[in-house]
Amino acid sequence: MTQYVAAIDQGTTSTRCMIFDHSGRVVSVDQKEHEQIFPRAGWVEHDPEEVWTNTRQVAAGALAKADLTTADIVAVGITNQRETAVVWDRTTGKPVYNAIVWQDTRTDKICQELEALGGGQERYREKTGLPLATYFSGPKVRWILDNVDGARAKAEAGDLLFGNMDTWVLWNMTGGVDGGVHVTDPTNASRTLLMDLDTLTWDESIAADMKIPVSMLPEIKSSSEVYGQVRERGALAGLPIAGILGDQQAATFGQACLSPGEAKNTYGTGNFVLLNTGTEKVLSNNGLLTTVCYKIGSNDTVYALEGSIAVTGSLVQWLRDNLGMIGTAAEIEEHARSVDDNGGAYFVPAFSGLFAPYWRSDARGAIVGLTRYVNKGHLARAVLEATAFQSREVIDAMNADSGVELTSLKVDGGMVVNELLMQFQADILGVPVIRPVVAETTALGAAYAAGLAVGFWKSEDDIRENWAQDKQWDPSMDESQRASEYKNWKKAVSRTLDWVD
Ligand code: ADP
Repeated sequence: MTQYVAAIDQGTTSTRCMIFDHSGRVVSVDQKEHEQIFPRAGWVEHDPEEVWTNTRQVAAGALAKADLTTADIVAVGITNQRETAVVWDRTTGKPVYNAIVWQDTRTDKICQELEALGGGQERYREKTGLPLATYFSGPKVRWILDNVDGARAKAEAGDLLFGNMDTWVLWNMTGGVDGGVHVTDPTNASRTLLMDLDTLTWDESIAADMKIPVSMLPEIKSSSEVYGQVRERGALAGLPIAGILGDQQAATFGQACLSPGEAKNTYGTGNFVLLNTGTEKVLSNNGLLTTVCYKIGSNDTVYALEGSIAVTGSLVQWLRDNLGMIGTAAEIEEHARSVDDNGGAYFVPAFSGLFAPYWRSDARGAIVGLTRYVNKGHLARAVLEATAFQSREVIDAMNADSGVELTSLKVDGGMVVNELLMQFQADILGVPVIRPVVAETTALGAAYAAGLAVGFWKSEDDIRENWAQDKQWDPSMDESQRASEYKNWKKAVSRTLDWVD
């Protein structure tokens, strides 16, 4: 009997369940979007209960679409939007507040207060690999405990649990109030600002700084082992949940970037470049993050350098939803192809401040270089080019940190269907851009982690063998044009800084 692995991909805009066969090909997918809640400028929330309902629905949907039953599946993996923080009551199972999403900047003041304790933005860099920034979970938990009535007292009494979306989904899938497993993996834990990167344990002194009781933090296990069984009566009931990887680390795993020096760039809501640095933890001097790439069972921890970009695909959504300039995301390519270049316009989408390599929460978006000549087509190009320029910035930082020049870039995510963007990315980087056959690498990576734990795949070599190239774009822009475009981009970025006092 043919067997399969299921992956739950709890993403920023939607939740998916994907089912993979032994060759790593997708046999079924079901997906459901959830509401993006914007209560104020800079705030972004999700309803955790809506996400949990969607998770159950897509799990059932994916099985039904492929005409499979639970008996055909050997294990379940979870991958998730990272940093997004949920705090819930362990006795009722109810969240005390909406999930605060990774893009949310409300913790700006909390971060400034922590910086003022000494060491500034770099206060926790040595231990956690991260700068102090609104992006990470710790300050979001602190905000909930400070601002939700009664939350702090309950947390101190041991009644509240914290989790990122992986933990929220796992706890509910394994029974919730009825024995739910409160666990995370090191890739997710490494995004909280609370985990020691060397020991993979919670750092009590940082938790104390942030006034977060350690009792509410999940247990950190590896990224690939059996955490528990699905307790729901519906789809997937009884199956082992055997893999957890944060979405970007999952994509790195799914792209078979399994050796030091291999890197991928995922083009989704935001963009995330991860470079596998092996068992060595490389601290960045150039605005990148050091993070856990994966930890497979009892094997050594593998680390990565990461360049996180907050706004890329979501700028295309913004053009569609806030301006109504396009009807679908795909239409942007037609507009961009109606002109030969950007007409001198540059669009810096600093909607959540700027992430890597700047980490400036005071930045706000700008379109610069406008003249009467600029039309819709030029703006469409400027929007797509913003993704490629931002990617170039973090890859330059990566080359500087690692001392090794990247020679090609593996890509995946929702935007890589955009051929104009892929060509421009190769042009502005000056290296080939390579898209794999299975572009759903995030879910695939989680499936691999789960399948390895139960012996469905024997070793990482199986993952390497399954990877196959779909298409490659080679650079065709001449060096002087590349340099002048990039210089203009940098100038445009400088116009967005110091906007918020
Ligand atoms: P996530 O996993 O972060 O939710 P996906 O990987 O599904 O995101 O990618 C979705 C993003 O890709 C959206 O932000 C959307 O605007 C963008 N996108 C989808 N199709 C295209 C396209 N043809 N051209 C440019 N952007 C696109």
